[in-house]
Amino acid sequence: VDPVQENYVRKVKNCIFSIAFPTPFKSRVLLAAVSKEVLEDILDLDVSVSETDDFIQLVSGGKIVSGSVPLAHRYGGHQFGMWADQLGDGRAHLIGTYTNRQGEKWELQLKGSGKTPYSRNGDGRAVLRSSVREFLCSEAMHYLGIPTSRAVSLVVSDDEVWRDQFYNGNITKERGAVVLRAAKSWFRIGSLEILAHYGELDLLRTLLDFIIQEHFPSIDVKEPNRYVDFFSTVVFETAQLIALWMSVGFAHGVCNTDNFSLLSITIDYGPFGFMEAYNPDFVPNTSDDERRYKIGNQASIGMFNLDKLLQALNPLLDLGQKQIAAQILHQYPAHYYARFRKLFKAKLGLLGEKEGDDELIAFLLHQFWALKTISKHELFPTWVSKYILRLKSNMNDSDSERRKRMITVNPRYVLKNWMAESAVQKAERNDFSEVRLLHQVLRRPFQKHFAAEKAGYALPTPSWAKDLRVSCSS
Ligand code: AMP
Ligand code: MG
Ligand code: MG
Repeated sequence: VDPVQENYVRKVKNCIFSIAFPTPFKSRVLLAAVSKEVLEDILDLDVSVSETDDFIQLVSGGKIVSGSVPLAHRYGGHQFGMWADQLGDGRAHLIGTYTNRQGEKWELQLKGSGKTPYSRNGDGRAVLRSSVREFLCSEAMHYLGIPTSRAVSLVVSDDEVWRDQFYNGNITKERGAVVLRAAKSWFRIGSLEILAHYGELDLLRTLLDFIIQEHFPSIDVKEPNRYVDFFSTVVFETAQLIALWMSVGFAHGVCNTDNFSLLSITIDYGPFGFMEAYNPDFVPNTSDDERRYKIGNQASIGMFNLDKLLQALNPLLDLGQKQIAAQILHQYPAHYYARFRKLFKAKLGLLGEKEGDDELIAFLLHQFWALKTISKHELFPTWVSKYILRLKSNMNDSDSERRKRMITVNPRYVLKNWMAESAVQKAERNDFSEVRLLHQVLRRPFQKHFAAEKAGYALPTPSWAKDLRVSCSS
């Protein structure tokens, strides 16, 4: 821990955390939404605690658990391909680690809770819009079966937060909000990069051994090859994660190394987006001028980020280990495509392995892309007949069995921007009904909900929302 215990913005050396206290809001704070499952299943709390003043104080940064020491994490990272030097938790506070009844450890972190030594030019706050989006999407991703940080609660204040709307030059007054997030670990690739960058190798080793000990039970911390084994696991799991993102059309938006978890969970929801129709050029973040993080680039960006991880590990590896690690990195595309193929075959209801399966998937996606309405495509009937023929080769299958399977892997509802925006607009007026409705609907994204159908959540984006923009401004 940083020996200087002050909140002013500065370069911090030779530590992993700085002690940093949340800044309470000046105005009243309202509880907009809470995750019953997270409270009950992860934190062993009854949902009724969320009605208490103590709870709202705790989850908004108004007070801390007595005796606890809140921390801001020091990390660096590559942003949009370039070394960005020190970043760190500029508006987040780790308020504690909870070990639950199942013996799982969960790290609890406030986001939007005020300045820390890592705030750089930021105000330490998060606005209601981005907080609603993070709250809903992290829970939605969990229920889609995708590894992610979780959201405990969402509070909103009347404190004013000013944001630059980059794309039109306007500055807008928004409301400050805080999400309490939970994850098994918040360490990122950037957590290691900063230690390697400044040659803090003892600390790098200490942190890695801690992470391995806590989160990689299959790796022995005494084993000389442990960092190679660790790298191998992160390579494999990152490939799985990005294949899962692709299977639901999720574009993270800011795939910088500081937003890539060492546990390969989805973290730091900002200008993410779900694709409307298949389009590999889909870019959710309007501030991403180079279109670096378009959805079709995510898999290769994953490899770029893993290469940065390897560079951070390199000072701790001998020559032989470096060579093995480089080979491990080269297996990343194969891991990715294997999972991608498996996921898309399941989406199409295909069983077993048949030659031509890859073409069937690629051709379908390509046609989606080439023509928004594939049924008009002249080759579509050819594709359909190939598909039907292929389905006949499924062993021990029937239409009804296949239908049952396909429903469980093709979500009916995902959090499109317009849905979040509609909920945000109401929340600005302290009407949290749509935030809560979306939260409920996205807990069971594969099932039809009456209220969701009525709201049009399974339909294409309505025309009023066609020009919606999301940027890094959050
Ligand atoms: P992001 O791209 O959102 O993951 O953020 C990159 C870095 O900027 C992280 O170090 C954040 O903590 C920091 N940051 C983003 N917004 C703010 C803010 N409003 N105040 C302080 N730091 C911020
Ligand atoms: Mg981040
Ligand atoms: Mg962020």
